[in-house]
Amino acid sequence: MKQLISIVVPMFNESQNIDFFYQKMSEVLSDLPAYHFEIICVNDGSRDNTLEKIEQLAMRDKRIKVIELSRNFGKEIALTAGICEASGDAVIPIDADLQDPPELIVDLIKKWHEGYDVVYATRLLREGESSFRKMTAFLFYRIMRRLAKVDIPPDTGDFRLMSRQVVEAVNQCNECHRFMKGLFSWVGFKQTSIPYLRNRRHKGTTSFNYWKLWNFALEGITSFSFVPLQLATYIGFLTALFSGVYISYIIVTTWLFGNPVQGYPSTIVAIFFFGGTQLMTLGIIGEYIGRIYNESKRRPLYFIRKKTNF
Ligand code: UDP
Ligand code: MG
Repeated sequence: MKQLISIVVPMFNESQNIDFFYQKMSEVLSDLPAYHFEIICVNDGSRDNTLEKIEQLAMRDKRIKVIELSRNFGKEIALTAGICEASGDAVIPIDADLQDPPELIVDLIKKWHEGYDVVYATRLLREGESSFRKMTAFLFYRIMRRLAKVDIPPDTGDFRLMSRQVVEAVNQCNECHRFMKGLFSWVGFKQTSIPYLRNRRHKGTTSFNYWKLWNFALEGITSFSFVPLQLATYIGFLTALFSGVYISYIIVTTWLFGNPVQGYPSTIVAIFFFGGTQLMTLGIIGEYIGRIYNESKRRPLYFIRKKTNF
């Protein structure tokens, strides 16, 4: 019996890319006659005519299934919805802007048949992105690796193949702050990688500006590490140590040279330093508390307005 492979495509304002994406994808899939495919397009509250376009395609091609979310929930949730609705023996999330080359699907499937449960695609090069973005991405993956207990592979996005078993495991994670590539790694199983060159966006611009990326990074770190919460402890230890040394210094100099009034600059520095670190560590605690608050509400992750071809 032919196996079914689900391709999950989150889409937010991608109308300019859909035709070319579909064309490329069809070419690749026609080279793989040994499988059935479903292409699950998740319309994440697009404000252009993305939805009409995918619904038109879905009328012509029954492999295309459409999930329309009730509003824009963000990429991580759109992916979650798509993966949850996918029924394939393997599931492949891919971006609609052709930054993840569909040709690579052939290799992903090959590796899957070698017995791996997760085959992720690691970017060797990122085309068409500013050097600042490349640098921040490079740093983010390295810092994340240091902070998180989970082995999140560097330079790897959501583009990967996951076996049914892995998908079931990911679906069991029901937190609402979802850093998907963290979850994909956290579930474990037998994972391997294949390298690729990341293309530039076909059309349109990225919906992730630096503020969004910063928040995305915070999401990743707070979801998989509490090292930032321990920061206050270590700063506290260090300053206690330092004040011990400083007290001895003051005692000795007072004893040797008397005690002329001095120390306005050092007092001000100390006030600012401790004011700053206290606010900062409070803020870090706030980041976690906010997330605990959100998780405790136990709201549904998303709402589906309409499903087509399911
Ligand atoms: N996306 C989405 N919801 C959003 C933002 C983005 O579903 O709120 C989709 C988008 O359509 C694309 C993928 O997520 O298929 C990656 O987005 P983008 O290309 O903007 O990000 P980048 O590649 O720059 O990280
Ligand atoms: Mg992109």
